[in-house]
Amino acid sequence: MTDPFALADDLGPEKIIHVTDVPTGLRAILVVDNTACGPAIGGCRMAPDVSLEECFRLARAMTRKNAAAGLPHGGGKSVIFADPHQPAAAKEKLIRAFARAIGEVTSYIIGPDMGTDETAMAWCKDEIGRAVGLPPEIGGIPLDELGATGWGVTASVEVAAKHIGLNLQGARVAVQGFGAVGKHAARFLAEIGCVLVAASDSRGTLVNPKGIEVAALIALKAEGKSVVDGKGEKAGVDAIIDVECDIWIPAARPDVLNEGNVGRLKTKILAQGANIPATAGAEAALEKRGVVILPDFIANAGGVICASVEYHGGSASQAFATIKDKISQNTREVLESAKAKGVSTRQAANELAERRIRRAMGFRG
Ligand code: NAD
Repeated sequence: MTDPFALADDLGPEKIIHVTDVPTGLRAILVVDNTACGPAIGGCRMAPDVSLEECFRLARAMTRKNAAAGLPHGGGKSVIFADPHQPAAAKEKLIRAFARAIGEVTSYIIGPDMGTDETAMAWCKDEIGRAVGLPPEIGGIPLDELGATGWGVTASVEVAAKHIGLNLQGARVAVQGFGAVGKHAARFLAEIGCVLVAASDSRGTLVNPKGIEVAALIALKAEGKSVVDGKGEKAGVDAIIDVECDIWIPAARPDVLNEGNVGRLKTKILAQGANIPATAGAEAALEKRGVVILPDFIANAGGVICASVEYHGGSASQAFATIKDKISQNTREVLESAKAKGVSTRQAANELAERRIRRAMGFRG
């Protein structure tokens, strides 16, 4: 088992709380990583195979993401060791028990993540009076339905395209993972003139160099079908990596690009919609080839920016304006700093986030 103290460095974590509740069978961990910028916001993940280490890595990623986005929030994360597909009544008991257990930890604001959703956040709000990612009926902004993260990815791509002189009219886009992030990124990019030439989901890849109609593909997915039911050439799940394009958007799983397959990717911009979609080795290989990497916690911050605007009582249109503003500004800063210092965009992004965190830490007694 991971030694909790071995995880600590000078940024955090501030608190690691292990929770058990015998009547419900709840087993959970909360990591509040760093609250220098404000109370931590981070999702609650429910899965049978979560771990303290995963919870800590995700909490640290939130510390960076929230600081980079200039939010008045630190980073945290929680995990519940359980099957997310269990009967709803049992799941509700677990989530409510967890919310009560962390009720007094006011330095953490719970949000949705894998295995939890807006209904789960409504239960938490009901128990302890605070949560983000709520249903619209109780003040939430439906960020996945509106495409907050895809909107932010698009803002980041626009800045990067300008940076390298890529004309977005007719620019070819390939999206891995046509879900909440991927489909909206494709939709917003198509609205500004890009052409979706390939999209994949867990069942396969659809390729059409002449262009795929994004609205039709979104409608297909809404019927529960796969992208491969759309018009175009059908290929295996992994074939998305071989599609030549200008903008490649991972929006599915972690570490999908690694040393073993990165040589196959032919793109100019890698816009990271998913969290940690590429290994460090893959990113290094791509930068060597001149591919512009838009790091995950810069490009995919739209969701948490939206959650923060919701928490502070703002509207969906305010959230979208804030996302565009913050992500465009950060992307510009990261690209210019990486170029000026001759470092990777990942390093420039880490420096940007850590500078803000350390400055905020300096204001504390
Ligand atoms: P989602 O479940 O809505 O969509 C994921 C899609 O990926 C699905 O269409 C699924 O079929 C597909 N998929 C799964 N395995 C695949 C594979 N091996 N190859 C191709 N496609 C595959 O999830 P989402 O909310 O869109 O999140 C996607 C990623 O973005 C995750 O890594 C998530 O952590 C990250 N993220 C999401 C948000 C958000 O606001 N939803 C914000 C930041 C980061």
